[in-house]
Order: sequence, then structure tokens, then C-alpha cells
Amino acid sequence: MPKPAGAHCNLACDYCYYLEKQNLYPRDGQHIMTDQLTEVYIREYIQSQYATEVNFTWHGGEPLMRPLSYYRKVVRWQRQYAGTRTVVNCLQTNGTLLTPEWCRFLHDEGWLVGISIDGPEYMHDAYRRRRGGQPTWAKVMEGIRLLDKYQVEWNAMAVVNDVTASASLDFYRFFRDRLGCRYLQFTPVVERIRRHQDGRHLAHLLDGQDCPMAPFSVTPEAWGTFLNTIFDEWVHMDIGEMFVQIFDATLANWMGVTPGLCTLSDWCGHAAVMEYNGDVYCCDHFVFPEYYLGNIRKRSILDMMDSERQQTFAQFKRQGLPGRCRQCRWQFACHGECPRNRFVKAGDGEPGINYLCPGYTAYFSHVAPYMDMMKAKLDAGLPPAEIMREIG
Ligand code: SF4
Ligand code: SF4
Ligand code: SF4
Repeated sequence: MPKPAGAHCNLACDYCYYLEKQNLYPRDGQHIMTDQLTEVYIREYIQSQYATEVNFTWHGGEPLMRPLSYYRKVVRWQRQYAGTRTVVNCLQTNGTLLTPEWCRFLHDEGWLVGISIDGPEYMHDAYRRRRGGQPTWAKVMEGIRLLDKYQVEWNAMAVVNDVTASASLDFYRFFRDRLGCRYLQFTPVVERIRRHQDGRHLAHLLDGQDCPMAPFSVTPEAWGTFLNTIFDEWVHMDIGEMFVQIFDATLANWMGVTPGLCTLSDWCGHAAVMEYNGDVYCCDHFVFPEYYLGNIRKRSILDMMDSERQQTFAQFKRQGLPGRCRQCRWQFACHGECPRNRFVKAGDGEPGINYLCPGYTAYFSHVAPYMDMMKAKLDAGLPPAEIMREIG
């Protein structure tokens, strides 16, 4: 994931884990990916892919902090270097900077847009605010109306924090009934506090187990209840109509197919990021000095992805599983979830337990009978939505 504006953003959401990455580069004034570096990246990235389809995910901070003229050049370079390959672009944005001109471009170039919105106004504005504290929900809704007007394909990305988890059905129904959104991704917010000398204040895995939880984090129990409540509505009414990423990923694991959600896959390694200056890190959630892979100006993408550090990182998800996960009946569906959340010490003293484990245990136990039914339908060549008639 390239970060053309680094960690810069026009918002300052309380739970943002990326804004503080600016502290990694205190000497640079503007954090902007130059044209020259962008072109090098596009050429290298296309050449490093084996598939006929090459996917770019433009990420931030806020990628729309860069002008439209920059992305027009991006598209030109992609055409120049793609040859016979198909290029697919995704843009992850907070939606507040969208304009008719932007939407025309996104539509004409067929870009897929991921919009960050945390449900209805009171939930969203609890944490997603500007630097001065001003709310942003109304502006994001304006952006979504523009995307619809210009027929840009978009999906919603929402975080599950202490506020959104407390009213899960209002949250889910807002996306389905108010926005008419059919593709939905939830990410649990799990952050701990640890002040670093360079100004960063969020902890990572190597900071140990004694860091206090950030107050906006979702609790493991609330995460489980949140998932189960929404699942119950979805499984009775919305299979085949609403595509909720974590439910799809769970079904994929039930079918023995690799899910499209890294946290529920059995290994990491496909979510590396490149900062504005060409520095590459193992994963968007591991942009820390300890997980630095090199700079694209000095080292090829393939070399960095094949490096021992990245391979060790990728395999840690499986090889670093604690005994509890290895003996868990849900290991095939969970794979110990994201390693960044494995910071809890169990009652018997075993370290590396996933903070969200109680929530996942509750979730997998709850959905298992329905997953079995959907698997049976798929095995029989039938759509999983058929179970809705049977369960009433
Ligand atoms: S919009 Fe995204 S990048 Fe910007 S502050 Fe909020 S979470 Fe961080
Ligand atoms: S560390 Fe977490 S977010 Fe990163 S690739 Fe692994 S599972 Fe995904
Ligand atoms: S549910 Fe808990 S014990 Fe089981 S695999 Fe997931 S994190 Fe590990």
C-alpha cells in the first residue's frame, strides 16, 4: 500500500494509529511522494507481480491530500508500464475531500473507493473529528452522495470501538437501510498506550504486556457480542444481499478456502506499506523501526518481500501461535487472528494470547451451526442464502 501523502490527514480521529507515524520522519518538512519516486514505484510494483491483474491500494493518512493532477499522472504511468496486464485501483479515504471533479475521475477510471464511516452521526462523530474538534459526519455523507451521483463504486469501512460496539444493530442497519451499502468491512480498534521518545504514544507488540489499553478500544466481550448480534440479523435476512467481510471470511475458512481478510488467514505478508519517501514496512499495522524492510530506491520490492525479515514476519502468524491457539477447536477459522493483538498473558502464565480471543471464541461458537449449514449448501452446489428459508 503506497502512502502518497505519508501519514498526513485533514482529520485527527482519536483512535488513529497512523497520524503519529509522522514522528518517524521529524526532519522532513512535507511528507509527499515525489513524481519521480511514484513512477519508480509503479514500474517496480507492476514488474514484481506474477498475476495478470495488478492491484494498487492508495492509502494514508489521507491520500486525497494529494491533488487530482497527481493521480492523473499515476494513471498515465500505470498505462505506460502495465503492458498487457489489467490495473485495478482502490483508494481508501475519509471522504471529506471528495468533489464532483474527483468523483468524475474515479468513475471514468473505474477506481474502487473505500470510505471510512463509523455509522450514524452520533457514533461517527464520537471520535472522527478535525484537529479543532469539529465533527465530520455531515461532510462524509456529502462525499457519499457525490460518489452515488457519479456512480463510483464504493464500500464502507467502519471501526468497532467502545461506542460503535455498544449499539451494533443501529450501526449495521445504518449501512444497510440508510446508505444502501452492500459491502461492509469492520475493524476492531485495539490500541494500548506507550509513550516513545520520538513522540509516538501507541504501543506495539515488542513493547511488552504492561501497556494500558486506550479508552476507545473495544473490549473482547463487546467484540463478540457485536459480531453475534449483527450475524443474527444477517443470517436471517441478508445473506447474498449484504456482504460483510468477516462473515464471508469465516465461511471461506469453513470451506477450506483462503479468506480475503488477512486477520483470519493463516499467514501474513501481503499487506506491506510504502511510505512517502520509499521506505517499506512489513504491514500497515507494523510501521515501526523494528519492521523496516528497506527503501525502494535501494532495494527492489521483490527483494524486500523475499527478505528474511519479511518472511519471519509472515510466518510468525502461524509459528508464533501460543499453545492455547494450537489446541483451539476454532484454529482453522481464526488462526490466532492478528499478531498485533497477541499481547495478553494467560492465567497459567502463557504469553502471546490474543486480546480479542474471548470475543472470537464467542463468535465462532455462535456461528458454527450456521456456517455448517452454509457449507453444506455450497458443497451441494446451492447458494448459502437458501438456509434463510430453513432457519425461518
Ligand atoms: S481519517 Fe484516517 S488517517 Fe485521518 S485521522 Fe482519521 S483514521 Fe487517521
Ligand atoms: S499483522 Fe495483522 S494486519 Fe498485518 S498482515 Fe498480519 S494479520 Fe494482517
Ligand atoms: S479463538 Fe482464541 S484460542 Fe482459538 S485460535 Fe482464536 S485466538 Fe486462538
